[in-house]
Amino acid sequence: MEMEAASKNFIEQAIEKDLAEGVYDHVCTRFPPEPNGYLHIGHAKSILLNYGLAKEYQGQFNMRFDDTNPTKERSEFVESIQKDIKWLGADWGEHLYFASNYFPKMYEAAVKLIKKGKAFVCDLTAEEMRKYRGTLKEPGKNSPYRDRSVEENLDLFERMKQGEFPDGSKVLRAKIDMASPNINMRDPIIYRVAHMHHQNTGDQWCIYPMYDFAHPIEDAIEGVTHSICTLEFEDHRPLYDWVVRELEYPMPPRQIEFAKLYLTNVVTGKRYIKKLVEDGIVDGWDDPRLVSIAALRRRGFTPQSIQKFVELCGVSKAHSSVDYAMLEYCIREDLKLKAPRMMAVLKPLKLVIDNYPEGQTEELEALNNLENPELGSRKVPFGKELYIEQDDFMEEPPRKYFRLFPGNEVRLMNAYFVTCTGFEKDDDGSITVVHCTYDPATKGGNAPDGRKVKGTIHWVEASHALNAQCRLYENIIDEEKGVYNEDGSLNLNPNSLTVVENCKLESNFAGVKAYDSFQFVRNGFFCVDSHDSKEDALVFNRIVSLKSSFKLPVK
Ligand code: ATP
Ligand code: MG
Repeated sequence: MEMEAASKNFIEQAIEKDLAEGVYDHVCTRFPPEPNGYLHIGHAKSILLNYGLAKEYQGQFNMRFDDTNPTKERSEFVESIQKDIKWLGADWGEHLYFASNYFPKMYEAAVKLIKKGKAFVCDLTAEEMRKYRGTLKEPGKNSPYRDRSVEENLDLFERMKQGEFPDGSKVLRAKIDMASPNINMRDPIIYRVAHMHHQNTGDQWCIYPMYDFAHPIEDAIEGVTHSICTLEFEDHRPLYDWVVRELEYPMPPRQIEFAKLYLTNVVTGKRYIKKLVEDGIVDGWDDPRLVSIAALRRRGFTPQSIQKFVELCGVSKAHSSVDYAMLEYCIREDLKLKAPRMMAVLKPLKLVIDNYPEGQTEELEALNNLENPELGSRKVPFGKELYIEQDDFMEEPPRKYFRLFPGNEVRLMNAYFVTCTGFEKDDDGSITVVHCTYDPATKGGNAPDGRKVKGTIHWVEASHALNAQCRLYENIIDEEKGVYNEDGSLNLNPNSLTVVENCKLESNFAGVKAYDSFQFVRNGFFCVDSHDSKEDALVFNRIVSLKSSFKLPVK
């Protein structure tokens, strides 16, 4: 994929300044997902950004599971997340870490703060703590437990760890400043009691660190230099800095925030995707209408298309939404030259060539990709009975309709000119068969006398045709009408999935495998469905249609 000679983004500038000033002598980034769901396109941005920066500065990229919260995490997600990141092309080498393995070091860190007089055990209830915290306008009040001695704090914290106290009865708090204008700095909780089983550490711990305390320690332990996160953590940065400073790490990591990626017409929030899955509105986390990485892969997106998309989105400090059409643009661009272009008829109508010899077929040569000769050519069977698209015939054509209608001549792609001579209808008046004659002299699609036709249509020879189911998708949320209804439910598009049965495919589709992608000429890009497609019952997902009004934003 071509690299644009764009100017450096603000994160690259910060890194280069740090390297120039000797703040760090290397670059180490990380991607720190919580294993509580599948990754989505927003995460892809974060993954490729962190991985890309590590690569750009010959640094290290760490894959770290932020599994410090025992309630929501599941090992199923630990597997899927690794698979998705590998598929995206981000390689962590041997640098795979689990934050829960640092629990002993986090405990030591908390003890160190207590010994420095920078942390205390507090017995206020959650309700009382809220009252003491103050508001954005008013300062908070010191907890009555704030002045406990170091000895008493050490003893109580040790006993919290031993399991002497019930959940919620005691917490460890950082001793910072109850009058700080930043509420995150008003003696935040750093450890809580929770008698819970953890998927990695089992029942070893009944106290667990809070995110704002754990995260900077994880970064520092691993030697991360630039801890890149999304904007909602901007107000937490002073606490991040406080933690790494008070713990006296020799080369403390620096937090840098960027704006989350939002896409129009689709749901990206883990919570909402979960709801769609749990309510059975979609067929699992990888339903091709979703934008989880697994769903995009199943739909037929490629890692290269997502890399390109993320690159085009850029990195910024300002929140904005990107049009889903840009993602579609990226996959079209990626598949344009890579995918073979073959013939498939989605809504078949029989076409009979009355002057073609009965019982005979021949093989015609067809290029696999007109724009990329490297993909070579193939043989396509041709005969007396073909399928064409229902839309490619009209009994009474409107103006500027150049396809088949009585008396009109068109080109059958890669084959011959045919002239429509008539049609048959059933009792309800729907057209069942179209008749035509062909001109054997036009083999290959050109007339020796130089006469022209205005329409070219695709077709599939009937006796060799394969059957397939094709799934056509629209966005699951219609943004025009708003993402939410008045009652707060999601405003779902009822046409987000159309299943088309009995599509007819040229015989060259025999033997396709899951994830193989093709252009169905004139119909779009399609990918073999990895769940449901069988050798004798092919299922394709439409990745994207061929045309779009999308224009690349000018930077
Ligand atoms: P969600 O908001 O979808 O539930 P999350 O932030 O809870 O996601 P985490 O597993 O905590 O998910 O996130 C891992 C990393 O991915 C974090 O560094 C987070 O900032 C980043 N990330 C999450 N969503 C986006 C997004 N939409 N755009 C860019 N980065 C994101
Ligand atoms: Mg999160």
